[in-house]
Amino acid sequence: MSTTSKAAKQNRKSPRGKLQAVRGMHDILFDETHLWRAAEAILVQGLQSYGYQEIRLPSVEKTELFKRSIGEVTDIVEKEMYTFEDKSGESLTLRPEGTAGCVRALIEHGLLRGQNLRLWYLGPMFRHERPQKGRYRQFHQLGVEALGHSGPDVDAELILLNWRWFKRLGLENKVELQLNCLGTLAERRIYREALVAYFRAHEHALDEDSRRRLTANPLRILDSKHPDMQALIEGAPRLLDYLGEQSRAHFRGLTALLEAASVPYVLNPRLVRGLDYYCLTVFEWVTTELGAQGTVCAGGRYDTLVEQLGGPATPAVGFALGMERLLALLADSPLADAVETPQIYLIRVGAEAERAGLILSERLRDRFPDLRLTVHCGGGSFKSQFKKADKSGALYALILGEEEVGATGGSPLRVGIKPLRTLAEQSTVSQEQLFDFIQQRFFS
Ligand code: ATP
Ligand code: MG
Repeated sequence: MSTTSKAAKQNRKSPRGKLQAVRGMHDILFDETHLWRAAEAILVQGLQSYGYQEIRLPSVEKTELFKRSIGEVTDIVEKEMYTFEDKSGESLTLRPEGTAGCVRALIEHGLLRGQNLRLWYLGPMFRHERPQKGRYRQFHQLGVEALGHSGPDVDAELILLNWRWFKRLGLENKVELQLNCLGTLAERRIYREALVAYFRAHEHALDEDSRRRLTANPLRILDSKHPDMQALIEGAPRLLDYLGEQSRAHFRGLTALLEAASVPYVLNPRLVRGLDYYCLTVFEWVTTELGAQGTVCAGGRYDTLVEQLGGPATPAVGFALGMERLLALLADSPLADAVETPQIYLIRVGAEAERAGLILSERLRDRFPDLRLTVHCGGGSFKSQFKKADKSGALYALILGEEEVGATGGSPLRVGIKPLRTLAEQSTVSQEQLFDFIQQRFFS
């Protein structure tokens, strides 16, 4: 798109000044989308190889859904949601995450009765946070949910899928898997008392947020990033010591499977996750390469959520991969080089050549559906068209002029081929020779 024309300039300006995107919401421009699609193709291939199916969900849900699932005393619901009243006075929210909407949809369509489901979705999420590197107000998550399985084998499957992705993407040395077990609600209640007693004894040392959480959501204190709190948190009782035998067995089952499959992990007893619905397994894939926004992918088990939202009791586990953070990790990967420039740029000068060029280009696309071919539009001299061909990044220019199309009529079509990235000479060939050349050069 031309941004230099008068009209474009006028369009971009409102009477009050320059029109800009909403803070924290970004355009993904055409020099980035190829990397997004290359990464997405690898991610989707991985999902398919484990039998996961795609589900597409609305970006807006009733506010109540998020309050009832994520929890009232969480960062997301307390301060990060984009909530508004629509014209009929109903409170709606731009989805801050995907699990709640996914579970809502499955209950609504009656898909959870005794079924095992393996699902994924990819799309924008919205959170009103302070924008910074790796933290945006509109960002993208690839979410995966496995429903109907209660054992640790499916927890291991999700982690193996993650590990396979990271290896395929060449990131296995850049991420670390951290694991914890949150136990059951009953176990967390007992632990919570011990934790509150501990923090009460040190109340003077708590920051403001943590003091508020002491009554509302004390486990979240463990998640505090406040530097002054770290020593205190280090000394707090550990949830792992409060787990019952069943929870321990689940966790042991998971770690044994990960060890059998040679997936490296570290235990992080302070990993609690920011959403209320998690139980038993929680995990995060963390990197040190993205500064403070180090969690690339995070998830866990949520065995009570479906029932809590009015569905049949259904064990479930899932995770969300933060696409912007993944893409940032891939910035210097070979995947980033696979730019989608045209392979061929067709130059055509004169009315006859324009007509013949149109027909030739359509024939080429019939024969080579994967050929990236740009046809020059808008006329102009050979010189100006060559300039455009060069700028396009194409490897070859095809040339059609009066000489090649035989303006005097009768003679068969000939085409000039000029290599644009080497010093090799231009040659002139028949249409059949051109087809052979393209076949050999790009498709054999
Ligand atoms: P954080 O601790 O970084 O705020 P979170 O616990 O809020 O993360 P989740 O709700 O678990 O994050 O979301 C899963 C993943 O989605 C995160 O690990 C991250 O990669 C990505 N993510 C979350 N919030 C944002 C955001 N505001 N901008 C970009 N990516 C995000
Ligand atoms: Mg957050």
